[in-house]
Amino acid sequence: MITPQTGDVMGGKKILVLAFCLLAGPAWAQESVAAKVRRYADSHRGAIVTEFLKLVALPNVHGDAPALQRNAVLLRTMMQKRGLETELWDTSRGVPVVFGQKLVPGATRTILFYIHYDGQAVDQKRWAQPDAFVPVVRTASIEAGGTVVTNLSGANYPDDWRIYARAAGDDKAPIVSILGALDAVGAPKQNVKIILDGEEEGGGPGIPEVIAKFPDKLKSDLLVILDGPQHASGGPTIFYGARGGLALNVTVFTAKQGMHSGNYGNWMPDANVRLAQLIAAMVNPTGQVAIPGFYSEVLPFPAAARAMMGAVPERSAQMQKDFGVGSLDGAASSLQEGLNMPSFSVHDMKGGEVGGVIPASASAQIEVRLVKDNDPKAMIERITAFVRAQGYFITDKDPDVANLAAHSRVAKVVRGARNSSAWRTEPSNPQAVFATEALKAVWGDRLVRIRTLGGSVPAAPFIEAYKVPTVGISIANYDDNQHTDNENVRIGNIFDGMITLAALMMH
Ligand SMILES: [Zn+2]
Repeated sequence: MITPQTGDVMGGKKILVLAFCLLAGPAWAQESVAAKVRRYADSHRGAIVTEFLKLVALPNVHGDAPALQRNAVLLRTMMQKRGLETELWDTSRGVPVVFGQKLVPGATRTILFYIHYDGQAVDQKRWAQPDAFVPVVRTASIEAGGTVVTNLSGANYPDDWRIYARAAGDDKAPIVSILGALDAVGAPKQNVKIILDGEEEGGGPGIPEVIAKFPDKLKSDLLVILDGPQHASGGPTIFYGARGGLALNVTVFTAKQGMHSGNYGNWMPDANVRLAQLIAAMVNPTGQVAIPGFYSEVLPFPAAARAMMGAVPERSAQMQKDFGVGSLDGAASSLQEGLNMPSFSVHDMKGGEVGGVIPASASAQIEVRLVKDNDPKAMIERITAFVRAQGYFITDKDPDVANLAAHSRVAKVVRGARNSSAWRTEPSNPQAVFATEALKAVWGDRLVRIRTLGGSVPAAPFIEAYKVPTVGISIANYDDNQHTDNENVRIGNIFDGMITLAALMMH
């Protein structure tokens, strides 16, 4: 074990390294993995970035099956180059799932890495570059005054340089990091399986389909979701769960049609006002949701959960400045606590009429983010019961005139299309502990541990099918502008990602 590592170290440092090895005992193995991968990355920076530039130059907007097929073919080739056994799996929407594996004789653990290769749509006019799929390299972020590097020949790609392209951060960076990690370590200690999903952003059925078709191929001891930006502190980030969500469309009615505000003002109720009153009643002025039982499945937090949330670096004050947030919502006492609770937001409210007309209907799309402890059905019932308690007759279709005349207040409540499941693996689960320790061995106290990621990642189909312990690891910089214009990745994050993933494979 010592020979190849000291072999990479120059001259006199050999003795020092050997001495350190003897002193440090088991920690040495991890330390050497980090050092080895760092050396590999440093001597292959150009090749690694060039491969990444080629990958982000392929358009990958979700739903564009022909474009995604081209991505899949390239990704398969990239995996084959690393000696992975690869397969392209067709799905019903024509967007392939790319699968690769490296099985190691005698391995006692199989890790399945999930990454998605589709990206969000592009609003080109909002980007600083002419084409989101012609990547641009800058010497720093745009905000920090980074300038475009026009001549890349011989570039050594310093850590703080950025690559601007759709999907640079979300979620192509981890693909190049994991393949780079495999290059650097040669033979991993754990069995490594990689699944590349082309339907994450569009919420397609590909993953449940391939789980049903190839259940044995996707079995693992530990699922690692590689997605999402790192914590704002810039530290390597592991998360143990993510929120899910549901949408509820509420429409209130006050008549069969809008009526003249001169002739009927003060007689016919205004649906816009009724809706605004209903929504306002759902949230206290403090920000706390007033719907009875809304937090009952979650609060109070267990002590261990509270301790984990409290250990996350707090960046709230800086974020308020960065994002121009003058006052906070107030539902929770910190960002982390807020992410571990259900949250309530109104995505759009529509109502009104053109001209002097009192509106007869108005609607709001309520979105509730849920955590693992929440029961989505119970949450829908709570919200519906609240609307009923405000005096509304509840229906699931547009009411007819007789129905409208028969009830003083009528609301249509239907479930929206958005729907995803929350999940969480207890951080004390042995596989979660394994992942945490592997990362701690290379990153020490810089590792940020997040109990629940605020957004959603599609781990639920795997967890439902296999009951597999799951963690997530974020590789991209927190300011990667994912989903919006000028998406980017900091180049150093790709190299750090290689170390993180190698640490897992070699622990
Ligand atoms: Zn993503």
